[in-house]
Amino acid sequence: MENPSFQKATDLLKEKLPDSVMTGPDELAPYAYDGSKLAFTVDALIRPQKESEIGQVLELANEHKVPVTVRGGGSSLTGSASPFSGGWVLDLSSWEGISVNRAAGMATVQAGAKIADIQKAAEAEGWFYPPDPSSHRYSTIGGNLACNAGGMRGGKYGVTRDYVLALRGFLPTGEAVRWARPLRKYAAGYNFRDLWVGSEGTLGVIVEATLRLVPKPKARWTILACFESEAKALDQVKLLWEQQVIPSITEFLDRESVSCAERATGAEIFAGQKGRPVLLIELDGHPAAVEEDRQQVLAILGKSSLAWKEAADENEAQSLWEVRRKCSGAMFELGDAKLNEDVVVPLERERELIEFTRALSQEKSLPIAVFGHAGDGNFHVNIMFYRDHPEQSANAEEAVQSLMEKVLQLGGTISGEHGIGLAKTPFFAMEHSPAEIKAMEAVKKALDPQGILNPGKLFTPYEVWRHRPVKVRLPWDHK
Ligand SMILES: Cc1cc2nc3c(=O)[nH]c(=O)nc-3n(C[C@H](O)[C@H](O)[C@H](O)COP(=O)(O)OP(=O)(O)OC[C@H]3O[C@@H](n4cnc5c(N)ncnc54)[C@H](O)[C@@H]3O)c2cc1C
Repeated sequence: MENPSFQKATDLLKEKLPDSVMTGPDELAPYAYDGSKLAFTVDALIRPQKESEIGQVLELANEHKVPVTVRGGGSSLTGSASPFSGGWVLDLSSWEGISVNRAAGMATVQAGAKIADIQKAAEAEGWFYPPDPSSHRYSTIGGNLACNAGGMRGGKYGVTRDYVLALRGFLPTGEAVRWARPLRKYAAGYNFRDLWVGSEGTLGVIVEATLRLVPKPKARWTILACFESEAKALDQVKLLWEQQVIPSITEFLDRESVSCAERATGAEIFAGQKGRPVLLIELDGHPAAVEEDRQQVLAILGKSSLAWKEAADENEAQSLWEVRRKCSGAMFELGDAKLNEDVVVPLERERELIEFTRALSQEKSLPIAVFGHAGDGNFHVNIMFYRDHPEQSANAEEAVQSLMEKVLQLGGTISGEHGIGLAKTPFFAMEHSPAEIKAMEAVKKALDPQGILNPGKLFTPYEVWRHRPVKVRLPWDHK
């Protein structure tokens, strides 16, 4: 217990909810940080046994001005679930209930339901929940809603926000609220449902969500193709969209990412085409529609790619995925630290982004590997460096700054799916005007007058927090 000012409130909380509050150092330690490895002090961990306890926790936190960080799977990559200001961590990860309404094509899920479990439950009833973050096995719907999580299928299917019909939860003051209803249409009043989506746990606590499902695709087809250059690969994505062929997945890997995957597998992806950039394309839908689009994809790739492999069945599709699965972890051969940015640019400017990252890599003498979801312009730009090398660390920081400037100049955004948290606060004011930030801060003040919910996120200047975190290593670091 490091913050004496929260001691009294924590004692009161333990009296009220003795079975739900933990304060042992070993119990608190895993909740001091999230996937960003930015670690802070935790004063108490709360695992509510009943929904009404959440309201009680927030009421007490308000009375004593104790910060509360809501937590799902703790996989945030930006520090949005790291308890920056100490206080209490409200862990909802064990609230995992899922109920699929087959007739209505909806799923009502508790905040801690894992994305993979929601997908499985939907598919068991012939439906499909498309958002598919790579963290689907351990990230929760509460966290996905709070960060408006994306994934590989965004180009065709959109992101988490596009699937939420209704939310239930608590205001920071502890009052229970429902935003919209489990209906296909809703137009009664301000849309606080969408305001909570992407608010990174700063405006309310989500307890339950009703999600829209879509019919499960009856057919799927996968192809991997390599190209002479990144520009050539990305031109084909543009061409597909111009011809209104919208793959469910269009993953792009630049030459650095492909080389990483090749080193990890010990083999060339395409014999004689070492380190060539690739596109991994997946089509899904009705079999006749998939076949029609397949012909168009083959016609386009036939004119532009150096080589390709089509998957004849699910096993072959899985082996084509190997390059994408292996590349990210294999980047740690290029440095022991990675700044993984998740920028988005307009489809027609993707080429410019990749050309820029190549030049940036040369200018800063750092490996930069880019892969990502070319169907929606969302690229993971991975800047690799060695932590203990001061010049490299400084160059990596400068590279991120230049990248963000370029992305905004291209008409893009600094985050497509990871959110702002703490890591991207230095760039928030580059993307938003003072008037926009003032409006957001006014909303925060109105809903959370004591500023208890996840304080410090989104708006805190980097200079304020950069010297506070303690770095730790997480299990998925080198995967
Ligand atoms: C290996 C790896 C791969 C990843 N791949 C992707 C990807 O493909 N796409 C993508 O979008 N992200 C990805 N992420 C990032 C991360 O998984 C997402 O940001 C995810 O949405 C976080 O969910 P979580 O349950 O872990 O939330 P947490 O990390 O626990 O919390 C994230 C934020 O949500 C808030 N929050 C959590 N639950 C609630 C709730 N019930 N009510 C209100 N606020 C809440 C927290 O306060 C915090 O601000 C990846 C992360 C890792 C480690």
